[in-house]
Amino acid sequence: MNHLSASTPPRRSRLALATLQSLGLSLALTLGGAALPLGSAQAAASQQKVQAPGWYRLMVGAAEVTALSDGTVDLPVDQLLHAPKGKVSSGLKKHYLAAPLETSVNGFLINTGSRLILVDAGAGSLFGPTLGRLAAQIVAAGYQPEQVDDIVITHMHPDHVGGLVADGKRVFPNATVHADQADKDFWLSKAHLDAAPAANKGFFQGAMASLNPYDEAGKLKTFSGNGEVLPGLRTHATHGHTPGHNVYVLESEGKRLVLIGDLIHVASVQLESPEVTIGFDSDAGQARKERLRLFKQLASDGSLVAVSHFPFPGVGRLRASGKGFAWEPLNYSSQVK
Ligand SMILES: [Zn+2]
Ligand SMILES: [Zn+2]
Repeated sequence: MNHLSASTPPRRSRLALATLQSLGLSLALTLGGAALPLGSAQAAASQQKVQAPGWYRLMVGAAEVTALSDGTVDLPVDQLLHAPKGKVSSGLKKHYLAAPLETSVNGFLINTGSRLILVDAGAGSLFGPTLGRLAAQIVAAGYQPEQVDDIVITHMHPDHVGGLVADGKRVFPNATVHADQADKDFWLSKAHLDAAPAANKGFFQGAMASLNPYDEAGKLKTFSGNGEVLPGLRTHATHGHTPGHNVYVLESEGKRLVLIGDLIHVASVQLESPEVTIGFDSDAGQARKERLRLFKQLASDGSLVAVSHFPFPGVGRLRASGKGFAWEPLNYSSQVK
């Protein structure tokens, strides 16, 4: 007899159920009891073809951190990375990947208990239809954009600031935006926009469209040098990728999360070969130097690291490996701890 339709659960299932109950667990299903609707002759269910909401939560000491997916974008990394072509294609292949590479854009929301702080705002409408989902993820994760008190920006590239505005209006009306003075001086300067080659003008225009509404409302604050930008959150200058690129260090109850922005883009190539730079760098040599310097430090102290463009949620740890580094993604937890 098929045990699924048996009126009495087979002995083994009863034992399994008893064991689960003794462990304090309960099951909604009747193991081996009532008939389950398996294999019934119905039309095929239609495939849903949508991804789960893109947020993932963890605690860093007393601070609650929510990783937010702004979406993904296909990047022609074989053209963008400054490396012999063979090195890029073999790195990708080794990791079962190929160019163009579907690349995550991640932001991070920190609830310190007294402030709600967003680290980078995603691309908004500046990078095509597969990005710009960050604000919706904030809502899906249980918050409202109006609740955000502060936004710290790693740098003013469009995939990090575009989500600050929608239709020219501030998406985060109560938030103060914090960024390095050097990035403001560079990206929000009309003189630099005018001097930029046609292909690069969009970067300046995107930064201006995203940040000027906050500046005009008195909600853009800049800093220079390393220091505590907000309680429990320190800036650490890593200029090179842009003139004012910063990483942020969250510390709470002896725990630490280092949010490294665009210190790296392509895990499958640049971890093993951290000397490889990318076309988005303002100063590739300086960007490489800062990556090597900080990665050595992070690999030796084992800090938890959050990365803008590693596969979502982009949280894990670096360790030294050969002449480069390896990435250990954070172990999945079904609880927030
Ligand atoms: Zn960037
Ligand atoms: Zn970026």
